[in-house]
Amino acid sequence: MDAELELQATSLAFYRPPAKLTLSQWADEFAVLSAESSAEAGRWKTLPYQRGIMDAFTDPRVETVVWMKSARVGATKIFNHLVGYHMHQDPCPVMFVQPTVEDAEGHSKSEIAPMLRDTPCLRGLVGDSKQKDGGNTILEKSFPGGVLGLVGANSARGFRRVSRRVVLFDEVDGYPATTNEGDQIKLGIRRSEYYWNRKIGIASTPTTKDFSRIERWFLRTDQRRYFVPCPHCSHHQVLRWQQFKWEQGQPETVGYECESCTARIPHSQKRWMVERGEWRATAIADAPGLVGFHLWAAYSYSPNASWEQLVREFLEVKSDRDQLRTFVNTVLGEPFEDDYTAKLSPDGLMARREEYLPGSCPAGVLLLTCGVDVQDNRLAVSVWGWGRGEEAWLVWHQEIHGDPTREEVWEQLDTVLAAGWPMVGGGDLKIAALGVDSGGHCTHEVYEFARQRRARGVIPLKGANTAGKPVIGKGSKQDVNRRDQTIRKGVTLYLVGTDTAKTTIFGRLRHTQTGPGSFHFGQGADDEFFRQLTAEKQQMRTVKGFPVREWVKASGDRNEALDCLVYAYATLQWVARRYNRATMWDQLERHVKAAATAEQPPPEPARKARVRPAVNSVTSW
Ligand SMILES: [Zn+2]
Repeated sequence: MDAELELQATSLAFYRPPAKLTLSQWADEFAVLSAESSAEAGRWKTLPYQRGIMDAFTDPRVETVVWMKSARVGATKIFNHLVGYHMHQDPCPVMFVQPTVEDAEGHSKSEIAPMLRDTPCLRGLVGDSKQKDGGNTILEKSFPGGVLGLVGANSARGFRRVSRRVVLFDEVDGYPATTNEGDQIKLGIRRSEYYWNRKIGIASTPTTKDFSRIERWFLRTDQRRYFVPCPHCSHHQVLRWQQFKWEQGQPETVGYECESCTARIPHSQKRWMVERGEWRATAIADAPGLVGFHLWAAYSYSPNASWEQLVREFLEVKSDRDQLRTFVNTVLGEPFEDDYTAKLSPDGLMARREEYLPGSCPAGVLLLTCGVDVQDNRLAVSVWGWGRGEEAWLVWHQEIHGDPTREEVWEQLDTVLAAGWPMVGGGDLKIAALGVDSGGHCTHEVYEFARQRRARGVIPLKGANTAGKPVIGKGSKQDVNRRDQTIRKGVTLYLVGTDTAKTTIFGRLRHTQTGPGSFHFGQGADDEFFRQLTAEKQQMRTVKGFPVREWVKASGDRNEALDCLVYAYATLQWVARRYNRATMWDQLERHVKAAATAEQPPPEPARKARVRPAVNSVTSW
């Protein structure tokens, strides 16, 4: 080679673009599995179903990879390889988010440190952790051209003041519901926004249907699934749990029934099928560059994920809902929906509406309570009628618009309190007690309103969202801060066991027959009312290893109608304390009958609400 050419070659070599290995190529060439974190230590070998997922991470057309998965498909290792790839091949700042700071530390020690030690091409890239200023702490590892930061989703600190080109979110369904600063996935993605070539990975085993973060993300993607051919008819299909068939009680007889030719395919042909499989998109993504993968244990080459083993696991758990949930999440990789957490259908309740008009009390109503939810620009007000066995009728629901720091808003609520509500049998009922939320906005305005109307049965309430609390607790005296003075112990505040109340209410809303505990809605209840009433559902969450059910609503949804009902129901329990429970409804019935005969019954029984409180600026009915 002559000198000039040689010079040219040298400079070309100097300016050569970074090697264009895909992640699976890189892992097959360089990755090593450490003994303490893998059943089989040694060289990594990419399995057919892993290749498409791995290479999406290094595909320049892809910005976000969403992976909804079961256990036993190698997800942790693949994320680790991606970290190794960026240390070795394509240095840049990387953020790796785990559910908690402890998880992040654990991952650093049990996965990242052994990888750095055992992978020859990574050895020496990160300084010695024993040396100060070596750029190597448990949660931050510097390497030439980049840094790896491990972050716990339970701490907003990790998301501040950093810029990251690659952001990986692992086990996102295990992230705490929210930090004070908002959704951790959004916070993390924001850290990458200055990079045109950023890469975002979001992976998790799903949890509860509709509340699973990974499900929500997956549904936005092109939803790639792994199609495998039938050895008999070549029909490509996604493996589905319901196609697995076995003789009763004999998991060893399991086979996969082809959805096309119905041939029973034995487990011994799984690898043959998977080797010939391919990822196919099954939906249109919301955005270009947003790809999603779903993968579950039936494809797994793991020796403890044979089809027979999966059937055995299913037979063990199928009669226990909580264990079945775990099976569906961790084996099928699917979100779980059970009856307990299924969202009530607003349409189903709407269809149950009865003939009565807003503002009137149908037969059976013996007592009225009012629940008020306070927002920063309105009050939501529900008047509920109660009968024997706590049978309930929605009598009236309305919003009073205006700033609750202003008198006018409360004056309008006074008209509701003062109104008489016509009964079908004649006569009027007055609201027996009114419970108003003081836990959120305008606490002292609420206190003052209640303090002045104590004799009228107005009580301030505050939701206490702890499981197992009574619907209404013992009262506690509170100071009332008015503009001009503080009134020491001026008002009695009652804590509401919202969790208990909602569990009771939702249990009852599910019942369609009438009678004790049933709910009735009149013609005034509209779409929006039912949407708000059904906005929440129960979700399972793990707190320190224990499953906990909590009521949650989708962010942005309004739930004031439900809150109003919870407050009205708690207020009913407060009123009931004045009565002997055994005779309460008898006493109320006598009272109502007396009120009805004291007045001439109207010719047409309460066809129209005769008394409507004069409430202005009303939006709904
Ligand atoms: Zn077939």
